[in-house]
Amino acid sequence: MPASVPITQDLVTLPRQQLAAARPNLVGLPRAELTAALIAAGTPEAQAAMRTRQIWQWIYHKGARDFAAMTNLARDYRVLLAERFTITRPEVVTRQLSSDGTRKYLLRIEGGHEIETVYIPETDRGTLCISSQVGCTLTCSFCHTGTQRLVRNLTPAEIVGQILVARDDLGDWGRGGPDRRLVSNIVLMGMGEPLYNTDAVRDAMLIAMDGEGIALSRRRITLSTSGIVPEIARVGEEINCLLAISFHATTDAIRDQLVPINRRWNIAALLEACRAYPRVSNSERITFEYVMLKGVNDSDADARRLVKLIAGIPAKINLIPFNPWPGAPYERSEPERIEAFAAIVNRAGYSSPVRRPRGEDIMAACGQLKSATERARRLRPAASPPAADPAAV
Ligand code: SAH
Ligand code: SF4
Repeated sequence: MPASVPITQDLVTLPRQQLAAARPNLVGLPRAELTAALIAAGTPEAQAAMRTRQIWQWIYHKGARDFAAMTNLARDYRVLLAERFTITRPEVVTRQLSSDGTRKYLLRIEGGHEIETVYIPETDRGTLCISSQVGCTLTCSFCHTGTQRLVRNLTPAEIVGQILVARDDLGDWGRGGPDRRLVSNIVLMGMGEPLYNTDAVRDAMLIAMDGEGIALSRRRITLSTSGIVPEIARVGEEINCLLAISFHATTDAIRDQLVPINRRWNIAALLEACRAYPRVSNSERITFEYVMLKGVNDSDADARRLVKLIAGIPAKINLIPFNPWPGAPYERSEPERIEAFAAIVNRAGYSSPVRRPRGEDIMAACGQLKSATERARRLRPAASPPAADPAAV
């Protein structure tokens, strides 16, 4: 479903970048920066806080895409806002629907880069898996995204924009509290390492959590990191959401192979940062993600070492059957092996759900993101409009 950012006719000849410079995007601006921008545009200081609240509610509660819709603002003021600012989302290139209901969006952002966002409906929640970078600088050996070099960090606008695009597509505006919404939870588990882009992720998540922003509670947001140890404390202090750790191995020798950042911050250092993470409790456990790789990290001895290592940390272990991608050097563990591993972890008192792969038929499962981007590139000559993806709906 190709869609485009609305561009008014008189500006259409300006290159996109010049356009953006001419009229800053209000999406993703921290509250204080929005207030300052409104004052600079001529809003009386005494009104600026109130206008900020109103504009936020239009953008994040109601999904307004242009200023004309903001009917509780004076008409002249709406015209002024439209002259000075935009409300811009990433552009939807394709939207694919899996047979299990998972949706994957291929989005185009400034500079022509592409990112992927995945929506996963479940009975009790709807989780949006969002990206924090184009590609990733890290090179975890089992991860498809890791084979794509980093192109750039996403801006707060592009991170929040992924939520807006999904809510547009799902018809998720104006439903009230998170229990009634289709996007009820957010996981930072898409492309990229969020803690190599901590400032932008923080600014975006503060908007996601703000009552006048997207208004999701901090406990509905989970940030997953491969283990950028010095940044973990900042997540606790500055974002204050739930934490997931891509753990994946129980010895430094194996983790060095799977998650090479382990050579910089090893298992002991990582677990120390987890132990120091604020507010961890039984109701706010740390999730340890553990990809099940046949014959590599899936033995009974691994399971026993794992529970010993994390002893004392309120935790849940999320076992992820390896999701293959073309050329991947690993295989998925057998279901019986995964069960035996889960049973040992479970007997030690940890919940150990096995993550059911979602959206496999559209390569939307964990660690598979990137491929659709490349497929889309192959289908589409650079200078022509997007080719219809046969799987797109
Ligand atoms: N960069 C962050 C977040 C994105 S990855 C991180 O690494 O935590 C989201 C999760 O999917 C991580 O736990 C990652 O290790 C896992 N993953 C990556 N590739 C995978 C694959 N091929 N199969 C299963 N899980 C994978
Ligand atoms: Fe990057 Fe996470 Fe993939 Fe590692 S698992 S390469 S950190 S996206």
